[in-house]
Amino acid sequence: APLVGNLIGEDHVNYVLMYNMLTGIRIGVSRCQAKIKRPLTDEDFTGRHKFSFDIVGNELTPSAKYDFKFKDYAPWVFRYLREDIFHLDPADYLLSLTAKYILSELGSPGKSGSFFYFSRDYRFIIKTIRHSEHKFLLSILKRYYAHVQENPHTLLSRFYGLHRVKLPRGRKIHFVIMNNLFPAHKDVHETYDLKGSTVGREYPEEKAAKNPRAVLKDLNWINRGNMLELGPEKRALLTEQLRRDEEFLKSIHVMDYSLLVGIHNMHRGNRENVRKNTLKVFSPVLPETRRNKLSQAGSKSPEAIAMRRAMRSSDPKRLGKHTVRLPEEDTGDRQQFVFYQDEGGLRATDDNNEPMNVIYYLGVIDILTPYTLVKKLEHFWKGLKSDRHKISPVPPAEYGNRFFSFMKAVMRGGEGGEKFKEKREKE
Ligand code: ATP
Ligand code: CA
Ligand code: CA
Repeated sequence: APLVGNLIGEDHVNYVLMYNMLTGIRIGVSRCQAKIKRPLTDEDFTGRHKFSFDIVGNELTPSAKYDFKFKDYAPWVFRYLREDIFHLDPADYLLSLTAKYILSELGSPGKSGSFFYFSRDYRFIIKTIRHSEHKFLLSILKRYYAHVQENPHTLLSRFYGLHRVKLPRGRKIHFVIMNNLFPAHKDVHETYDLKGSTVGREYPEEKAAKNPRAVLKDLNWINRGNMLELGPEKRALLTEQLRRDEEFLKSIHVMDYSLLVGIHNMHRGNRENVRKNTLKVFSPVLPETRRNKLSQAGSKSPEAIAMRRAMRSSDPKRLGKHTVRLPEEDTGDRQQFVFYQDEGGLRATDDNNEPMNVIYYLGVIDILTPYTLVKKLEHFWKGLKSDRHKISPVPPAEYGNRFFSFMKAVMRGGEGGEKFKEKREKE
């Protein structure tokens, strides 16, 4: 079931992979983090750092439980992305991911075969990606960096790290670390993955009735008559940011991405507790007081103290002020971002911009698919059977335009909403 993971224990098939990923991140990221901050250079975008782990250990890498190689891509760029652009506390980042070796595996929810893992506190997602996606991210990293720098409120996936683990028999696993759009402390009552394509974009309603965690699609959204309830102010902001993000996605020639929408209904609250069977995994769903105690305890572990000290020594001014901050209800780092400021999301508003009792969790995900030959062929074959313009694989500019019109149309009072509805009724 999407969005609820299975805890990875020592007997899990992917335990070794998880252990290696987390060890690599812990050593790789803290190495870069310990260095004195300096301005980014062009070379940083192609920079990479290799680590070789084994059970003995050496001056560069401590001993590990398994033999493996770890590669950290563009470590300085991602450090800047985390700290300066996305305002993560560097120590929190490492602690969330590696203070305890706990991840939960969502398995492979999409068709692509990627695996998803949640950090213990549910804030971060590790997604394994194809080699082609990995190469693609590196090739656009500079443009991505420029875009998110100019657009601090971007809705695009926030990439915090790009790494590779190589297992002894040569298997290479590439992965990114990104933001989990969904909060740990709020139940998401409905989830939609919207592309603006209507062909085959429906999750069977009979199945949805039985599975509240199903990821629904465009046709479910339309047929249920859904609308994003946003008053003029938020609607204008969201439209403008989506437009800019869309321009960027078109410029890097990608397609197949979607707007992920999580809906939390404040009347329903957390009573149903969608994640109740995962209480063991996600400490944040514990009552607040206990949680804070837990996080504080975590921060006092010798490793955490050492990590903070190491980092503090590299940049006393910056880190000094961050380290005293206690964890907040909704992980804090999101509050300065317009679309993530209300309990980690965007609260619905009425026509007078007054708050309503719904919180949306929104973001544009799966943005690393360039329009390659494979997609062109898929477009051709699918186009023989269905309308060439409604299927999901269309060229990037067309995909982008269609995506953006659809997103405007899903907002109540948004541009094109009425037109879109009429069109649907005619079909
Ligand atoms: P495919 O290429 O077949 O669409 P994929 O393996 O590339 O699949 P994604 O589309 O990135 O996977 O994500 C699949 C699902 O995982 C999404 O529909 C969503 O439910 C969940 N998901 C992905 N990224 C996030 C995120 N950042 N926050 C919360 N949930 C996410
Ligand atoms: Ca997808
Ligand atoms: Ca994908």
